[in-house]
Amino acid sequence: DHRPLRTTPVENSPLQIFVKAKKKINDIFVEIEDYVDDAVDYMKSIEEGQQIIEQEQVKQTETFKAKVHGIRDVLARDHMKVAFFGRTSNGKSSVINAMLREKILPSGIGHTTNCFLQVEGSPTDEPYLMLEGSNEHCAVESVGQLAHALCKEKLNESQLVRVFWPRNRCILLRDDVVFVDSPGVDVSPNLDEWIDKHCLDADVFVLVANAESTLMVAEKNFFHKVSMRLSKPNIFILNNRWDASASEPEFLDQVRRQHQERGIDFLVKELKVCTPKEAEERIFFISAKEALLARLAEQGQNTTTPLAEGFQTRYFEFQDFERKFEECISKSAVKTKFEQHTQRGRHIASELKDVLDNIYSDAQKIKEDKLHQRKDLHDKMNYTEQQLMLITREMKQKIHNMVEDVEQRVSKALNEEIRR
Ligand code: GDP
Repeated sequence: DHRPLRTTPVENSPLQIFVKAKKKINDIFVEIEDYVDDAVDYMKSIEEGQQIIEQEQVKQTETFKAKVHGIRDVLARDHMKVAFFGRTSNGKSSVINAMLREKILPSGIGHTTNCFLQVEGSPTDEPYLMLEGSNEHCAVESVGQLAHALCKEKLNESQLVRVFWPRNRCILLRDDVVFVDSPGVDVSPNLDEWIDKHCLDADVFVLVANAESTLMVAEKNFFHKVSMRLSKPNIFILNNRWDASASEPEFLDQVRRQHQERGIDFLVKELKVCTPKEAEERIFFISAKEALLARLAEQGQNTTTPLAEGFQTRYFEFQDFERKFEECISKSAVKTKFEQHTQRGRHIASELKDVLDNIYSDAQKIKEDKLHQRKDLHDKMNYTEQQLMLITREMKQKIHNMVEDVEQRVSKALNEEIRR
């Protein structure tokens, strides 16, 4: 039976590391957004008529709202990006098609990719194209049409054409993997521009090499440039067209060992991007053409299943590559993309806390001042009361004295009258 099914159930796919992390971090930002909204509402409700909160503080808190919005927008667009490089006709388009389980990109003679092609999940159910610098959606129904559309346009080799393909037609696209196919590294002298435009945000690079020959200077050169710009890029090496080895089984092991050793040396000693042990997990011997045929056959789209000797082993190795690739890309994307968001989120939270702390301590001060004022008032009242008491006592005394005085005088006058 030449139809092995995908061994990884969807839920167990390593891509879920990214998918789940993305959901989680988004949920956290929804919460932060709620807090900020609450804080703004609360501040506005207190601001009116009181002098506790300054307008500046409300404004500052409102900027957090905008910031959280911005981060959520970027987060929604965050994806895992894999870029494929190699010499013309090594099978880059075929590898991408095999991974997508559909013939999306044109491949083969006359269909040399002469610009950058990015395949990503479409927000609609219809596939379409977008040329660089334009927002126009050009509908594409088939590979033939796509190839035609690409030939029709006069495209520069550094230009990017985005192919939006329905998410529901491919798990990888559904889970936010974006594929970038490049023109052959042997063709273009403009490698620096390529790296600036298309590589700096790539999570994984796949070098599609031809197992029938050794790595070329052009291929190595390109990855030297990449690893100078990026610190420890994740690079996989696919020795494609391994089915061709089936015709020469006597050299199979020897050729494989040679490619393997050279590949490890390239990654470990030349580029210094990984350890020898890691490099072993980054080099694969596959046949993209067979893998694609097998997958089309699994879906009943093709009647000719590949039958070359050793197909099963090569197909398993292709699947093994896919699993290691998924693990690598999702971990790398979580780290490079979400670490920044986490830091920004933390920053916003601590700034919001500072604003609220300031408001709290201002309010506390106002409260103390008021209490103090009240105490002052209290003291003043006591004094007045005492004064009043003293005054009344004095008055009483005065009146008493006056009365006594009057009495004395009256009795004195009376006595004098009597004596007369
Ligand atoms: P690209 O220019 O690197 O994108 O290469 P393509 O994917 O267009 O492949 C060029 C030609 O090689 C096409 O005719 C493919 O069918 C063929 N091809 C790709 N992969 C394999 C493979 O693994 N084995 C064999 N025998 N042919 C392949």
